[in-house]
Amino acid sequence: MKRLAGRSYIVTGAGSGIGAATVKRLFEEGAKIVAVDLDKAAAQTALEAAGATGRRGMAAACDVGDPTAVDAMTAEAVRTFGVIDGLVNCAGVRGVGNILDTTRETWDRNLRINLTGIMNTCQAFCRHAREKNRPGAIVNISSQAGVEAVPNRLSYVSAKHGVIGVTRGVAVEMAAHGIRVNAIAPGMIRTPMTEPMFADPENARKIRAAFPIGREGRPEEIASAIAFLLSDDASYVTGAVLCVDGGITAGAASF
Ligand code: NAP
Repeated sequence: MKRLAGRSYIVTGAGSGIGAATVKRLFEEGAKIVAVDLDKAAAQTALEAAGATGRRGMAAACDVGDPTAVDAMTAEAVRTFGVIDGLVNCAGVRGVGNILDTTRETWDRNLRINLTGIMNTCQAFCRHAREKNRPGAIVNISSQAGVEAVPNRLSYVSAKHGVIGVTRGVAVEMAAHGIRVNAIAPGMIRTPMTEPMFADPENARKIRAAFPIGREGRPEEIASAIAFLLSDDASYVTGAVLCVDGGITAGAASF
């Protein structure tokens, strides 16, 4: 089923993990993709792995925390595809530390990339969509840590809660213009970001035991939720937070 045929989407953090899986899924759904990452070569590799080369894929290097770079990337995307129909914000970084030991550097970096980065891309996309008087759809990747606190991740928890705030704020501002904005809150997904946590088998066992569904998730399981939220199947869904988390925020696993 090609629900996104003929449409063009910007995907940030496209060079790895959830972003790379999203490039593949959106391409399978018929979309054209602007794959954005700090590392253009990684974004290009994700496009090639998805088969999204030639006129259906464009790679761009962009730091989402830099609004000037985001505006330039969006303008280049519009020049390439004529119009952009939506945006998926997967770019993100971890942030370890608690209220006692979090450094200003960790706090500022996490907020700049994980929260301000989403504001930057949403603003550039919404301005483009309004200029062309077009509808659109945005999906922002928050986290389990965006709907509940997890210890020793203070900057990350704060930024990811903020992502839900931006999502709801932009959703109510843009709904009348046909632009839907939703967030996904993934649980533990096996990607380069989380891979070190699975190195110790006992730690991996504990992680799996914490999830009612009994395992970590796959990037493709987030990508399929993203494709749904971008598609017309979600035409009445805006301002929502979809937890794709193996049930962890629903309640405790049995023991
Ligand atoms: P990942 O594999 O590390 O991918 C993140 C990508 O974002 C990387 O390619 C990274 O580039 C890129 N990136 C980092 N800073 C950037 C910037 N300033 N501008 C543009 N791109 C930047 O991580 P992931 O697990 O797929 O995570 C994707 C999103 O899901 C993140 O927002 C993360 O917080 C969220 N999430 C993940 C999980 C999980 O369990 N994996 C759970 C909840 C939420 P570099 O590699 O060069 O840094």
